[in-house]
Amino acid sequence: MANKKVTKIGVLTSGGDAPGMNAAIRAVVRTAIYHGLEVFGIMRGYAGMVENDIIEMNSRSVANIIQRGGTILKTARCKEFYEYEGRVTAYHNLKEKGIDGLVVIGGDGSFKGAQKFSNEFDIPCIGLPGTIDKDIAGSDVTIGFDTAVNTAVEAIDKIRDTMDAHDRLFIVEVMGRDAGYIALHSGIATGAENILIPETKTDIEDLILSLTEKEKRKKLVNLIVVAEGGEFGDGNELAKIIKERIPSADTRVCILGHIQRGGSPTCEDRLIASHMGYYAVESLLVGRNNVMVGVVNNKIHYTPLDKAVKEKQKIGQEWMKIVKILAS
Ligand code: ADP
Repeated sequence: MANKKVTKIGVLTSGGDAPGMNAAIRAVVRTAIYHGLEVFGIMRGYAGMVENDIIEMNSRSVANIIQRGGTILKTARCKEFYEYEGRVTAYHNLKEKGIDGLVVIGGDGSFKGAQKFSNEFDIPCIGLPGTIDKDIAGSDVTIGFDTAVNTAVEAIDKIRDTMDAHDRLFIVEVMGRDAGYIALHSGIATGAENILIPETKTDIEDLILSLTEKEKRKKLVNLIVVAEGGEFGDGNELAKIIKERIPSADTRVCILGHIQRGGSPTCEDRLIASHMGYYAVESLLVGRNNVMVGVVNNKIHYTPLDKAVKEKQKIGQEWMKIVKILAS
């Protein structure tokens, strides 16, 4: 652990936005000020670093944001940062302001960028997992997941009322191209009969058989929650397969989409964002570098950024067994 004293730090949000990012920014800014550091907000993720869109922040800059979704610093994807030349420009912009520490709030892509940047230049980087997908190794929780999953649950509960009233088969597609946590958690919490996620195999014949039996009884009330990246594709692709095999099925597809990203963060997301934001600054102060601040077994846990990048959490097959038993 290098112990070079940081004096001015930058904070940015990068990649996909997640509710609770504002609470994390607030915690970083106020902890930094408490320790006598100067703190800068970098606008639009790495794009602001490359384009020198960097603003000085004070305690008031983060007033009244803990309850707001999105991110006051905005977020973006930045092509230039993939290239060394882009990162050199970013480095000079930080150096010019005297910024000597960075907090990056984002997903695994943002961490890859942070890791490269801090290996190439003498600016330590601390990552905070801000992603609704919860697909970062090294933390049991990520900023935004709890809000997203609760939004999905609220929406699916409403859909279930219609589904029940009409005896319909409903496929609800939730976010998660590579990760099925939103589908798994929201599906369990809404009593879905089937949950399709990228991490586990789905017995499609078994699914069709159970739907056919229900159809025969003219009671095809069935809720299927599917992640965008489910084994058999997204909601529409799954509906097509079902329609081909059971032409009489009255199937509806509802894609929840971006409502899952927005909205006021839940208490849980505000708490973890505040906690992680505080420890991000503490980490820079004690000379940590290239680590992500996470929470494991309810305790702050540090994971090297390359491990947070490469590893994916595993969803146990046991959960899928439980889903089947509870929905029968
Ligand atoms: P997320 O952080 O949500 O996974 P992205 O994968 O889009 O989102 O990454 C956010 C940004 O991080 C990218 O637009 C890019 O600027 C930077 N980034 C991602 N991967 C790399 C990489 N391998 N090298 C350098 N920068 C990267």
